[in-house]
Amino acid sequence: MLARPNFLGGIASLLYPPSCTICSASVEPGEYLCEECGSKVSRIAPPFCSKCSEPFDGAITTQFACANCAHRKIYFETAVSAYRARGIVRHVILNFKYGRQIHLRHLVARWLRAAFDDPRLRDRHFDAIVPVPLHPARERERGFNQAALLAEWLSERLSLPLRPALERVHYTMTQTAFDRAERMQNLRGAFRLRKKADVRSLRVLLIDDVLTTGSTLSECARVLKEAGAQSVHAATAARA
Ligand SMILES: [Zn+2]
Ligand SMILES: [Zn+2]
Repeated sequence: MLARPNFLGGIASLLYPPSCTICSASVEPGEYLCEECGSKVSRIAPPFCSKCSEPFDGAITTQFACANCAHRKIYFETAVSAYRARGIVRHVILNFKYGRQIHLRHLVARWLRAAFDDPRLRDRHFDAIVPVPLHPARERERGFNQAALLAEWLSERLSLPLRPALERVHYTMTQTAFDRAERMQNLRGAFRLRKKADVRSLRVLLIDDVLTTGSTLSECARVLKEAGAQSVHAATAARA
């Protein structure tokens, strides 16, 4: 029984040789972008906000927080993304999330793992990986929680325990129409600790696909810290 899907998978790869997800040029097995498309992916380089990784033009060498972070309470220690959610990155993440192209999780997860090149995460120890939850109704609609798939991938590679400690209790309206203050308000009470989840004194690594304003990550971090987490660092595959 187990041989069958592999056998069919083998045939499929003969019929459909691996191709670039953007331009369909042929690529090596295990790759999702050709060299040209891969070179257009925009990596975030310093200087950036030490709290939320918002990049800045110019040569700032001291640690600083951006205006977005300086004027509000943020509950995570830091949120790190190695890539900008623009162009090809944005396109791939949208196809992964809404286009049911679940195989793209490998590519998105590699972007996520690149966040660990950053010294703010690299040498740090974590006790648990926690994905940002989706509301169950939305998860049914989408078929999966993208953050959970990424967290699972990372947990296997980093050999860290996966703890889906949070749940989403409000089916919030889409955030895009709101400004920053409205987003925070909209998210109040959206998350809670799962029954029997215990995060007391844990150093948590929170995972999501994209950081937009950081409000979701901050609200999740608030709930985790209220439940006793020692620290909450966040990593996302990309940031707006
Ligand atoms: Zn290409
Ligand atoms: Zn910031």
